[in-house]
Amino acid sequence: AKKPGETISKGHKNYDLMLNLQLGIRYSVGKLASLTQMRDLRQGDFDPKEKFWTRFPPEGSKITPPHQSVEFRWKDYCPMVFRHLRRLFAVDPADYMLAICGSDALRELSSPGKSGSFFYLTQDDRFIIKTVKKSEVKVLIKMLPSYFQHVCQYKSSLVTKFYGVHCVKPIGGQKVRFIVMGNLFCSEFHIHRRFDLKGSSHGRMTDKPEGEIDETTTLKDLDLNFVFRLHKIWFEELMGQIDRDCEFLEAEGIMDYSLLVGLHFCGDISSSKTSLSACSSSPCRLSRNHSDSSRFHGRRPLIRLGANMPARAEQSGHGGETFEVILYFGIIDILQDYDISKKLEHAYKSLQADPSSISAVDPKLYSRRFRDFIRRIFVEDR
Ligand code: ATP
Ligand code: CA
Ligand code: CA
Repeated sequence: AKKPGETISKGHKNYDLMLNLQLGIRYSVGKLASLTQMRDLRQGDFDPKEKFWTRFPPEGSKITPPHQSVEFRWKDYCPMVFRHLRRLFAVDPADYMLAICGSDALRELSSPGKSGSFFYLTQDDRFIIKTVKKSEVKVLIKMLPSYFQHVCQYKSSLVTKFYGVHCVKPIGGQKVRFIVMGNLFCSEFHIHRRFDLKGSSHGRMTDKPEGEIDETTTLKDLDLNFVFRLHKIWFEELMGQIDRDCEFLEAEGIMDYSLLVGLHFCGDISSSKTSLSACSSSPCRLSRNHSDSSRFHGRRPLIRLGANMPARAEQSGHGGETFEVILYFGIIDILQDYDISKKLEHAYKSLQADPSSISAVDPKLYSRRFRDFIRRIFVEDR
């Protein structure tokens, strides 16, 4: 199967950035693990003014190792809080460090979003590193106390799992801020289709010609040709959790987030047959009483909300087929508030399109429309 992204090796334009990032994370996670006892969080741990800049000279220092790139400075945001979050999300510190800082290089995804962010994937597929704007870090640090509270309270929350926020500043260079988060599509099952869904319609269609669409293409709202049927129990849990997550995002003034959905078609879909239309001729049509134990070869992965979820994908339209699928999903890109640029985007795009069809709307409307959309594409299996 095709692994998305390009491995960053020497000579890559972001090779130094990757090295700095690996050195920085090894330092931060290592220091926390060795020097400070795990203790309960205090209010001060959430304080954005707490500064933790560390200097990394190439020759090394008392607290930093020697390295091959230019001198840089490194900053951790609220490290104690993220240490608690990693524990909450069951990320072992050694695994974390090894995945990001091990000798395996990271892979760079060819800029999947419009925002200009870079994305890096660890070789084991567990973690995604995204470069973000200063304003996004601000939003995250501001929402951190309620985010922490929310994910502690709701173990099946679908909002992005954040593991760390850092900043690298090479001497004479620009600051690069980035977040480390969980990869929703880290799975034993190959993801055949991915959809980034906002519930809006204006411009929400992939710009790739059909022949170039493959399993690494992120499709959008208007490309979605399925309705997902979930078992009653999962359906109810999903609807409840979406409501709680959206209430949280709305209260934080967030908009422009997406439900990212990945589909694994059970049965054999050869990778040459994964164009959109070929989907319909795939050999994995579902028979109603199909015993689903066979497909796991005795090692059924843990099913939870948004991961490894068995479902039926029913093709919309007349005479559509039904496929047995495994679903992965979560709410991503939750660091955009309804700021002046989004208000301007709303005003501007309203001139060309129905205001309710454009992505940039205020957080209350956004959340309402998002939830309505989810209720249309997920239905209870009868
Ligand atoms: P824009 O603001 O233009 O929408 P962005 O640069 O903020 O884009 P995101 O929306 O965060 O980027 O992500 C872009 C794409 O990267 C997603 O559609 C998805 O394919 C992939 N992606 C982002 N976060 C994750 C994640 N946690 N797990 C798996 N894939 C992800
Ligand atoms: Ca996005
Ligand atoms: Ca974004």
